[in-house]
Amino acid sequence: MHKNFKNIDKIVYGNGAFNQMDEIIEPIRKENNNFFVFVVDKYFEGKELADRIPNRDEDTLIFIDIDVKEPYTEQIDDLRDSILKQKGLPSGIVGIGGGSIMDIAKATALMFTNEGSSTLYQGLDLIKKPGIYHLGVPTISGTGAECSMTAVLSGPEKKLGLKCEWTVFNQVILDPNLTATVPTDQWFYTGMDCYIHCIESQSGIYYNPYSKAYGDQAVALCREVFVDEGHGQSKENDEKLMIASLFGGLSLTYSEVGACHAFSYGLAVVKGMRHGYANCIAFNHLEHFYGDAVNEFRNMLKIHNITLPQNLSANWSDEEIMEMSQIAYNLTHMWNHAIGEDWKEKWTLEDIAGYYRKM
Ligand code: NAD
Ligand code: ZN
Repeated sequence: MHKNFKNIDKIVYGNGAFNQMDEIIEPIRKENNNFFVFVVDKYFEGKELADRIPNRDEDTLIFIDIDVKEPYTEQIDDLRDSILKQKGLPSGIVGIGGGSIMDIAKATALMFTNEGSSTLYQGLDLIKKPGIYHLGVPTISGTGAECSMTAVLSGPEKKLGLKCEWTVFNQVILDPNLTATVPTDQWFYTGMDCYIHCIESQSGIYYNPYSKAYGDQAVALCREVFVDEGHGQSKENDEKLMIASLFGGLSLTYSEVGACHAFSYGLAVVKGMRHGYANCIAFNHLEHFYGDAVNEFRNMLKIHNITLPQNLSANWSDEEIMEMSQIAYNLTHMWNHAIGEDWKEKWTLEDIAGYYRKM
């Protein structure tokens, strides 16, 4: 069966596009109880951008500190419950921030109309009803969360997305200006998420011309941003990286991530590492899977003066390493793609643990 996937309904792209939000959401305000919810990365509280959010008196504006914890199920349930109790069903929800905030907006949009805890819906196609209108505004480029069919949540038992057609945004506003303030290290780690998406997408059995077309363009843009003359954070490169992120996500949608994301999930769940950073830690050791791309990645580290810590595993207990390995091992769709459907004959829990011990 070929994937029959849902794309974003509408996209506006360009510097200053953020200013079109008021006009875009105006017709949606007549839906449900006639108010909007805005979830915004706490970084923007008190900043100039906060004054440009088109919230009205009836709306709810919430700043969320995502540095405390990545999006989690209880947070989404509480947000939904308190808004429904106070004001009823919103017309729509807007997420302004990185992958974390966009996932909060996507997940809450679905949970407004699906009863019970979000833990019940972590997985593929478990959501029963379409959510409310949701609009995403990335303020950092790389994750592809702006176009993906998933909203990744950490729950008491697992870190797994609410994945279905209805998760995809109705509208995305891509305004590269918003990414100008991202600190260099974070810019690099999240940008590498995009590069790694493309490399993983192309290195496996699900690769196809659709994924290649988007992936090749995204990698070319990443090279302009991170390697070629004129590399680094600039207005021009912010414009490029925002499109690379979208295209990397689209490449992935029609292929699959691979070994790096499997290792990265283990690091995220057991050691609490952030997604882009955990990818970098893992990718640095994956020449066996990704060959020259790992050398290119190391060159990018050098160009941008990013030093990754070595020998992290010296401080990990054997129990922790085995827990991470089991989490990675359970991501069967990633190994299917990276190694082949007979991967269990070629690749063991102990092989995975061996890689963690090298990190
Ligand atoms: P993030 O949202 O976690 O933010 C990282 C840091 O950057 C935070 O400190 C934030 O405050 C800061 N920041 C964001 N925009 C800024 C700006 N313009 N100026 C200054 N600081 C800014 O970063 P991310 O890497 O985009 O997202 C990672 C999250 O995305 C993880 O939770 C991961 O699970 C999720 N993710 C989701 C998908 C998906 O398909 N849904 C894909 C990949 C990752
Ligand atoms: Zn990723």
